[in-house]
Amino acid sequence: MPSITLNAVEKWFGDVQVIKGVDLSIEEGEFVIFVGPSGCGKSTLLRMIAGLEETSRGQILIGDRDATAEPPNKRGLAMVFQSYALYPHMSVRDNVGFPLKSAGLPKAEINAKVNEAARVLKLGDYLDRRPKDLSGGQRQRVAIGRSIVRNPTAFLFDEPLSNLDAALRVEMRYEIAKLHQTLKSTMIYVTHDQVEAMTLADRIVVLEFGKIAQVGSPRELYEHPANLFVAQFIGSPR
Ligand code: ADP
Ligand code: MG
Repeated sequence: MPSITLNAVEKWFGDVQVIKGVDLSIEEGEFVIFVGPSGCGKSTLLRMIAGLEETSRGQILIGDRDATAEPPNKRGLAMVFQSYALYPHMSVRDNVGFPLKSAGLPKAEINAKVNEAARVLKLGDYLDRRPKDLSGGQRQRVAIGRSIVRNPTAFLFDEPLSNLDAALRVEMRYEIAKLHQTLKSTMIYVTHDQVEAMTLADRIVVLEFGKIAQVGSPRELYEHPANLFVAQFIGSPR
C-alpha cells in the first residue's frame, strides 16, 4: 500500500492557483524530494500533506485513509522544523521527550523512547545540555529526535539545511541519508538545491509553477529529462 497518495490536489489562495492538479503516489519507506525554483509551490504542497494548509480541491490519502480534512495532529506525520524551533530553556532530553509528555505518557515510557531516539541519532552525550550549547548539526538532530519519538508514518522536511553553512550542510545531508537507512521511514523533503535532491532522493518530483514537470529517480531525470525546464534545473549548478 502506498504511504501517501495525492489525487488531483489543488491549492488556491483567493483567485490565485498555486498548486495545479498534482497526482502522486509515495511508497512506504521511500525518500521523495520536491525540488524546483523558489515560488513553485514546494512548501505549499508539503504543508498541505501536513495539514497546515487546507486542500482546496482533490484528495490526500495516508495509507488507505482519506486525510484531506484531518487536522495536522490526527495525520500521524512529523513535520521536522528547523533547529531554531527547540525550547531554549529545556535540556535535550526534555526537548526530545516534550511531545510525549504533552501526550501524557508515563515517565518510564518517555525515558525509554528518548533513549532510543538518542541512540539512533547519537545524542547520548548531549542529553543534559541546553540547545545553546550544541552545534547547528546537533540541534538539527534534536529537532529530528523530537519527531522520531512519536513513530510517525512519514517525516516531512522543508529545506532543513538551508540555514547551515556549506560544511555543515554536507555533514547533515550525510546524517539524513543515514537516518533514512536506519529508520526506513517514508520521508518527503523539500529543497531548491539540486545537489541535495540528487544525492538523497529515491525519487525526485520536479515542480514548475505548481505542476509536476517530471517524477523519477535521480538517474532517470539526469539521463532522460522530460523537457528543457527539467534538464536545465537538474543540470545547472546551485
Ligand atoms: P516554494 O516553497 O516552492 O518557494 P511556496 O509554496 O512557498 O513556494 O509558494 C508558492 C506560491 O504561493 C508563491 O507564489 C507564493 O507567493 C504563494 N503563497 C504561498 N503562501 C501564500 C499565502 N499564505 N497567501 C498567498 N499566497 C501564498
Ligand atoms: Mg518553500
